[in-house]
Amino acid sequence: MLASRQIASIAHRLFNYGTPVFMLHRITPHGQPAEGKTDPDHLRNCLQYLHKNHHTCISLEQLISSLHDNKPLPAKTVCFTMDDGYIDQAQIAAPVFLEYNCPVTLFVITDMLDHIAWPWDAKVSWIIETSQQSSLESSAVIKQLGINNGKIANKRKLRRSIQNAIKTLDVKVIPDILQQLADSAGVTIPDTPPPDYQPMSWNDARQLEKQGVCFAPHSVSHNIMSRLDQESMEWEINQAWQLICNELKNPLKVFCYPTGRPADFGRREIEALKKSGYLGAVSVTPEFVKNNKQSHNYIFSLPRLALPGNMTDFIQCCSWVEGIRATRSNR
Ligand SMILES: [Zn+2]
Repeated sequence: MLASRQIASIAHRLFNYGTPVFMLHRITPHGQPAEGKTDPDHLRNCLQYLHKNHHTCISLEQLISSLHDNKPLPAKTVCFTMDDGYIDQAQIAAPVFLEYNCPVTLFVITDMLDHIAWPWDAKVSWIIETSQQSSLESSAVIKQLGINNGKIANKRKLRRSIQNAIKTLDVKVIPDILQQLADSAGVTIPDTPPPDYQPMSWNDARQLEKQGVCFAPHSVSHNIMSRLDQESMEWEINQAWQLICNELKNPLKVFCYPTGRPADFGRREIEALKKSGYLGAVSVTPEFVKNNKQSHNYIFSLPRLALPGNMTDFIQCCSWVEGIRATRSNR
């Protein structure tokens, strides 16, 4: 029943639940499960399911153009995006999307592909993963960040607490905070990204673009937009686009806000993007994209869903049953 196109179409018209835009981050090599990373076989199973059950994968460009034109999106459509520009996304994930002829938009941090810097939040992850210490509790910086539990037993939890605390700071103090964190963790942050944080190259991007992968800007530095002064914020938006245009033939002028939570951007960023001629922007608000005469600002804060880690949840996200449930819970 879930796969019935007719029922889906009726439900879609009745409830207008919208299209899921999925986002992926890191992909692990096959058979090497890692926390927070997608296994390529799981991605393949998801795309296989969509193909078998006659779902249509549309590009983000198509989705945004339909929203601008106020055209209804057909039922059973899904859309895929990837954030950041790590090498595993080029080498492992992109070929899976190409294998299934499924459009995907890859948002890249230009500083990372330009080998200028690796992102501050990746450095936090690396410090926590690499530290041989059991706790950072006694360090002044942990107290300064307002973190109560500095034990490294739950690396994921500590990493998130530190990253969330840093997101509230003025970006100018972040290098010093990272240095203090590294000192207290007994590690030295390498200038160039360690093996697990290697970016894809612009050449990788050009090869993938030729094969149909779409690229779009995810800022220059991955700094939180709402924490930047007006000039730096506008610079990130314009420079990221300029740099990507210098390297690629046909990038998509849609912005992906670094970390993308509601607190990370606002009206100021939306106005700056519009002024710079962007077509839209994506966030990480976990909802379906709807096309019922949305306000223009909606296209500059499009919601996305993290790709579910298991098939049951994925199927529910792609089916009208889950869509209706989501619509009702939002009322
Ligand atoms: Zn990102």
